[in-house]
Amino acid sequence: MIGFLSAATSFGSIQVVTERNDSADASAAFQFQNVPRPARGDAAANARFTLVDGVIDPNGGGLATLNDGRLPTEDDQPARNFFFNARTAGGRLLLDLGSVIEIQQINTYSWHASLRGPQVYQLYASDGAAAEFNPRPTSNTDPAQGGWKLIAKVDTRPASGDSGGQYGVSVFDSAGNLGQFRHLLFVIARTTVDDPFDNTFYSEIDVVDANAPAIAETEPAGPATPVTHTFEAEEGKYHITIDTTVAPDLTEWAEMELKPVVQEWYPKIVEMLPSEGFTAPSRVTITFRDNMGGTPASAGGSRINCNADWFRRNLRGEAIGSVVHEMVHVVQQYGRARRGDPNVTRPPGWLVEGIPDYIRWFLYEPQTRGAEITSRNFARARYDASYRVTGNFLNWAVEKHGQEVVVNLNAAARQGRYREDLWKDYTGKTVQELGEEWREAHRIRLGLPADTDTPAN
Ligand SMILES: [Zn+2]
Repeated sequence: MIGFLSAATSFGSIQVVTERNDSADASAAFQFQNVPRPARGDAAANARFTLVDGVIDPNGGGLATLNDGRLPTEDDQPARNFFFNARTAGGRLLLDLGSVIEIQQINTYSWHASLRGPQVYQLYASDGAAAEFNPRPTSNTDPAQGGWKLIAKVDTRPASGDSGGQYGVSVFDSAGNLGQFRHLLFVIARTTVDDPFDNTFYSEIDVVDANAPAIAETEPAGPATPVTHTFEAEEGKYHITIDTTVAPDLTEWAEMELKPVVQEWYPKIVEMLPSEGFTAPSRVTITFRDNMGGTPASAGGSRINCNADWFRRNLRGEAIGSVVHEMVHVVQQYGRARRGDPNVTRPPGWLVEGIPDYIRWFLYEPQTRGAEITSRNFARARYDASYRVTGNFLNWAVEKHGQEVVVNLNAAARQGRYREDLWKDYTGKTVQELGEEWREAHRIRLGLPADTDTPAN
């Protein structure tokens, strides 16, 4: 079971990815598709958990099990888990990281055969700097009043059926890092209303420091041996090179996971976005880099750059999809027209980024539902909000008016003749009218009141 839901106020920002693995086989335990496997040596490993509320069950392994890097090997192994006593309905745990760090991701893991499997908690974070900072917000207090920021609400309980299994939860910000924090507060709830054996068996809690040394730094220093691999797509029509020189640890993943997708999708994207007289680059290079700061990936001409460190952390998450997005930029080639004539029109940025995200989220990986409009992000649902919100709008426009809408807009942008009137030519409506219709369709689907957040101009 894989679910994406936007846990915080803003869309495309803080995300909570929840996965469940039903396997009873210890060797396959805690293997998820998008949530990373529990880590050793993460930022939580040397941090300190303390109890602020609730009663620790003495039959469990206590707080130490949460960051010892050791996992349970069975579905009912109290000694390898932390859980609250049946006398308390959950409780509160503090994690002090020792100093303020840039947190990239927080992952929590649990395992039980039954009601103690799912996770229900609210996650708060603080840098401890505010004057009103309350270092021990007990159950009578609202953490938000004491200098704490609510980061995410997690609830992995299945809607129906039994709730046994391993659960992995990953909290991250798709727009960057979660922020700079020293203290984390887990406000943990029980999983039922009245069953005494419903306090979750938490197996491990990991905190990923965005600035932690990369795995590759354990390699001996010195000039790197080039690691490149060139392969063909569409029977020799395209030659694609993947360069993992600065990240040899990613070579195998690139070969096994990334290459097949590039081989299949680069020609597909070319075919999806034709225009008269256009030939897409036949040689594309995908280079992993270690100097991209906070940018996950970028494209220019026929080159795609991938931030090695970001990819390491997102191999099971957004890594491959981000390359699909960049491949669309390579096929767009909107810069070409400008090189011939500096007076050609430039397509708006929201469309330039919206088309790649439409192809990525709705054609390449629709199952991840990564670009949904929900009641939480509805306020930001504007056709020109760019990236995945515009991707959602374009998907709707295609469903209503056909694939040619995107094909024609792309062709116009590529040929330097994009203008807003084209929307009317292709659909009979202005882009503003379409945007309103799309928004209204979501509003009705979500059952929101008619006066909900009229978009500001
Ligand atoms: Zn982009």
